[in-house]
Amino acid sequence: MNLLSEMEVACPYCGETISIMIDESVAEQSYIEDCQVCCRPISFMVTTYPGEEASVEVRREDD
Ligand SMILES: [Zn+2]
Repeated sequence: MNLLSEMEVACPYCGETISIMIDESVAEQSYIEDCQVCCRPISFMVTTYPGEEASVEVRREDD
């Protein structure tokens, strides 16, 4: 069973849309990943709900 789903979010630095992969078997996760466009570190907070679309919050690392 594949619990990975792809979501699109806007980079908090450059505003470009980037795709991230979410592991829906994990209810809450946070991690830092560099923007694919401007290469600055974005802090992701992902919450998943069974049978529903996940919610993603993005934050600048320097806040
Ligand atoms: Zn960016």
